[in-house]
Amino acid sequence: MKSQAKTQAWELPSSPQEFKLLIDGVLVEGGASRDWIERSSPAHRIPVSRYPRAEKADAEAAVAAAKRAFEEGPWPKMTGAERARVILRVAALIRENRRELALIEAFEGGKPVSSVEGEIDVSIELWEYAATLARHSYGDTYDNLGDKTIGLVLRQPIGVVTMITPWNFPLLILSQKLPFALALGCTAVVKPSELTSGTALRLGEMLATEFPRGVVNVLAGSGSSLGATLCQHPDVAMVSFTGSTEIGKKISHYAADTLKRVSLELGGKAAHVVFADADLDAAADKVVFGILHNAGQCCVSGTRLLVQRSIADRFSEAVSDLMASVPFGDPLDPSVKVGPVISRQQYETITAYIQAGKDDGATLVLGGTATEDRGGVSGYFVEPTVFADVTPTMRIAQEEIFGPVLSIIPFDTVDEAIRIANGTVYGLATGVWTSSVDTAFRCAREIRSGTVEVNTFIAGAPELPLVGHRHSGVGHEKGRFAIDEFTELKTVQLQFGPLTDRWVPRR
Ligand code: NDP
Repeated sequence: MKSQAKTQAWELPSSPQEFKLLIDGVLVEGGASRDWIERSSPAHRIPVSRYPRAEKADAEAAVAAAKRAFEEGPWPKMTGAERARVILRVAALIRENRRELALIEAFEGGKPVSSVEGEIDVSIELWEYAATLARHSYGDTYDNLGDKTIGLVLRQPIGVVTMITPWNFPLLILSQKLPFALALGCTAVVKPSELTSGTALRLGEMLATEFPRGVVNVLAGSGSSLGATLCQHPDVAMVSFTGSTEIGKKISHYAADTLKRVSLELGGKAAHVVFADADLDAAADKVVFGILHNAGQCCVSGTRLLVQRSIADRFSEAVSDLMASVPFGDPLDPSVKVGPVISRQQYETITAYIQAGKDDGATLVLGGTATEDRGGVSGYFVEPTVFADVTPTMRIAQEEIFGPVLSIIPFDTVDEAIRIANGTVYGLATGVWTSSVDTAFRCAREIRSGTVEVNTFIAGAPELPLVGHRHSGVGHEKGRFAIDEFTELKTVQLQFGPLTDRWVPRR
């Protein structure tokens, strides 16, 4: 099946969809290795995608093209208005191909069809918002430096950006980076996860007709070889990475030798902090959404439920009952909200954490089992799982599980809640549930995470930055502050009028 073919039904493909790389404006059917990566769906386990495997020679060609496009091509010199128009055309193309892109992500990622189109819509909004920044990137002027001096601070695109993205929200996370860098005049080489490269490559096909050659290049290949090459390349000015904290640290090392800028969006261990005065029905619903959305495979998944002791039993029971009622199984069934996890490796990691919870003395109150056959569908299914009586130091309360496993930890006071919320190495996202303005603002101020949401969870907007504190990252994405990420400053100082000042004394 050719990639242009548009399947309208949520039906499994009869043969894998084939994709092409994008290098220097050309769609390449086979990488230098002439080898292919084949992706099987994590539900149904049939081959759904084939990508040409790019290797070092392809990375060299892509970086050289991006460098040429940056140094000699029209893109960085175009007006912001012209760049905005191109980016908006891409947003329209994504909208036109929304269903096909959703289908690719449903198959490759095992994402429920009930939610996957919504992720494509968020991606469209990100492209549309990023286009506005193309017209709002500007520097500063200083007219207070003396009567013959003017200082200008210019803002210029940083150059070639390597973008490395994870498998959990393939198009959405790429859309948090690529349109922003392009809006500001950068050029890019993109490497998605080899588990879910389809939508990035399909997007590459759309971009090939919209951008001057070399501005965007999209490669598929392994992280440890292709990804590492792209992070170490001397002609790359910046690496924008989203993925695990472990690989993020490696990226920092790679980038150090050539002093690249790095932006790292990494792991998390988000907490919900639920106070007794909250709207408990609304809180329970979002706690369940926060741990089960994408089968718990979100950097911002609310994996810890800190609940005030006076309501702990009642609220925990309500959450467990609600979780047990969420339709779980075949992601192609439109009523299903929780599908399989991404791979055997992830399935084994999560089941090992469930065992660790039991071994450490937590009480299993829901789920806890995993199966490779759910109602006749073969795949990596981990049942929604809840542990109670969790203490803040247990492994399930400290480490990123990346699966549908919720740990309930009771607390008594606001101080204690803040201390537990801050008690991991991560600092990505927190949900606070209360009707007290005092409690809400205190938590928002004192909880050390890049996002604190009050009486909502995983809401977000293109205007609002995604920020990782501590081991959750370096830098930020989205929002108008993205301008800082992809540009660098240049000082221009002008002296005018009769140039009378002399350093060397004249005789
Ligand atoms: P990984 O860190 O394993 O991989 C992320 C990307 O890095 C993939 O494209 C991978 O390629 C690539 N990669 C792997 N090794 C290297 C290397 N040595 N050099 C360069 N690139 C490499 O993360 P996952 O894909 O497993 O994603 C899950 C993680 O991402 C979780 O920790 C999650 O919290 C985090 N995440 C963070 C977000 C945030 O905004 N803070 C958002 C979403 C996820 P390949 O897969 O092809 O090997």
